[in-house]
Amino acid sequence: MILTLHENADVASATRALASLGMQVGAMERNERGVAHLVIAAVGVPRDADLVRQIPEVAAVSEATSAHPRVDAHGPVACIGAHVGGCEVGVGTPALMSGPCAIESETQIHRIAREVARYGATFLRGGAFKPRTSPYSFQGCGRDALGWLKSAAHENGMLAVTEVMSEQDVDVVAEHAELLQIGTRNMYNYALLKAVGASGRAVLLKRSMSATVEEWLLAGEYLLAHGAASVIFCERGIRGFDENTRNLLDLGAVALLSHSYRLPVVVDPSHAAGRRDLVLPLARAALAAGAAGVMIETHDDPGNARSDGAQAIAPSALGSLSNTLRKRVAAVGAVGRAIPQTAAPAPAPAAAAAAPSTLLQGPVS
Ligand code: PEP
Ligand code: MN
Repeated sequence: MILTLHENADVASATRALASLGMQVGAMERNERGVAHLVIAAVGVPRDADLVRQIPEVAAVSEATSAHPRVDAHGPVACIGAHVGGCEVGVGTPALMSGPCAIESETQIHRIAREVARYGATFLRGGAFKPRTSPYSFQGCGRDALGWLKSAAHENGMLAVTEVMSEQDVDVVAEHAELLQIGTRNMYNYALLKAVGASGRAVLLKRSMSATVEEWLLAGEYLLAHGAASVIFCERGIRGFDENTRNLLDLGAVALLSHSYRLPVVVDPSHAAGRRDLVLPLARAALAAGAAGVMIETHDDPGNARSDGAQAIAPSALGSLSNTLRKRVAAVGAVGRAIPQTAAPAPAPAAAAAAPSTLLQGPVS
């Protein structure tokens, strides 16, 4: 609920009157004429706005139809998309994000980057800071890996996406990646969401493994309210009861966000399935449900991967998916921002490096 006060109204007195109705002012903004707008948090709002209208200082009351107005405005009806480092990510311009679960060394990320670019990836992923369930598991190479990721991505015509786990690392991650990832375990970390939003970067917001869609959208609202350039939602599977798959891929939520909310939503079938044989079928299903892209873990030696080897596919397996994406681009008519025409067989190295840049408009910082 947003209240507009009369010019020169006593804000403190209005706030006290609201408090007597059990309402708290969440924020106050003034327009260019100095007129105060009070934003009331959804909690504690009485159903009858007439009580609020009776407060003498209040000139007008507008009742928000949604608790996440910025997210609602984010996906305009005619164009589901987000802009990341000069690249548009949307249903007609789907992103193929790929790379290892964890960046294990400089040579490893460069090697895999060359391969995934050759098979059509437009974003290079790789964790520098790894959120591991066990404190004894590999935790990532940390800050060193950020520089390796950035150069591997840019040298191969891709943008970089990587997870930021801590408020203190937001600046350094933002210096190295065009797209900042919030992992499933941190979707509810509001201090981190505020700090990442304040970086002004685009954000890939993974759904918590136990989040309702509304909680997920509100986490997106946090990011946008604090300055994020855009938010791409990422469905990566929620907790199910069956142990055959690591998580339960919620394609209903993907269709809802894409078709009803008109928001860009990317699907990560790797963490959803937890096993490589299901990754490509789920990726195709995700695109059919309206996903604006997929994020897929790849590794060139999955048997020796330091994390998530069981769900990693070979970079060359991306080739068939690139063809699906190209068909999607052709079907939607988004000419000029397409996935490279020839993902496989392998082009010469120079051509391979140049191919994905048709989608991109220059690296950032
Ligand atoms: C990841 O993408 O590296 C990751 C850890 O995924 P999630 O947060 O979905 O588990
Ligand atoms: Mn992983």
